[in-house]
Amino acid sequence: MTPIMKAAWGSLAISVVVLSLKAAAYWLTGSVALLSDALETVINVAAALGALVALRLSARPADANHHYGHNKAEYLSAMVEGALVLVTAFLIAREAWVGWNSPHAPETPFLGISLNAAAGVINLFWAVFLIRRGRSWKSPALIAGGQHIMTDVWTTGAVLIGVALVPLTGYLRLDPLIAGLVALNILWTGYGMLRESMGALMDEVSDPEAVAVIRRIISQNAAGAIEAHDVRTRTAGSVTFIEFHLVVPGPMTVDAAHEICDRIEAALRSHLGTAVINIHVEPEGKAKQSGVPVL
Ligand code: ZN
Ligand code: ZN
Repeated sequence: MTPIMKAAWGSLAISVVVLSLKAAAYWLTGSVALLSDALETVINVAAALGALVALRLSARPADANHHYGHNKAEYLSAMVEGALVLVTAFLIAREAWVGWNSPHAPETPFLGISLNAAAGVINLFWAVFLIRRGRSWKSPALIAGGQHIMTDVWTTGAVLIGVALVPLTGYLRLDPLIAGLVALNILWTGYGMLRESMGALMDEVSDPEAVAVIRRIISQNAAGAIEAHDVRTRTAGSVTFIEFHLVVPGPMTVDAAHEICDRIEAALRSHLGTAVINIHVEPEGKAKQSGVPVL
């Protein structure tokens, strides 16, 4: 099993543990705020299952009807997860609205609060782990999973602060007020997740810096060629797709031109990891002068 798959199974196991803790906390207190926190975790369990399916799918090699592989399945999973996060924000906002209109003091035995706090701490560690690992393994599904769990941590924190401050201040509307702010924050996160995965599905250039690096690597490893132009890149999960035109002197042999191509490809792969590279070789009459100069 790949480390990414292990992390995805870990997410499922952890979300089930956290859900049980939060359900127990609700059962002990009967608090609506704690119930909405637990409901949010039900969505986490569903999202963890979705991510597992997506990772299975995206790991499949290219086949007869998907010539470029299945990596984009991860972005689909990230989009669904972003949508679920938005749904959560609306659920919590609704709870906050109800609480604002009929404020009442939450019943909160110490045990219930501690269980919920423990669930929050587990989530916090797992969210940080997933976001860090997801970035270094270039797995959009893991990153989205981590961001989603992070919104859960915010909810738990706010619910606990609200529950603790209400008896101290005597202001009953503090609880729904905090819940409302949490809903706004979660709304913002969900929007960001949707925006990012949609951009990736549309082959958006996510990182201009990475494009500059690719152009520099081409330029430094193309000795013998004249220029490169029409450099285009896109990414799907951990795979980078690169294509460009390479202009060489007309009389150069196919052997020599191909050798330059192989050199550039090797340099790009040693920098970017898995990459699908296509180079179109042209004689000097096709030079555009505006492309990537060869150093
Ligand atoms: Zn050209
Ligand atoms: Zn070749």
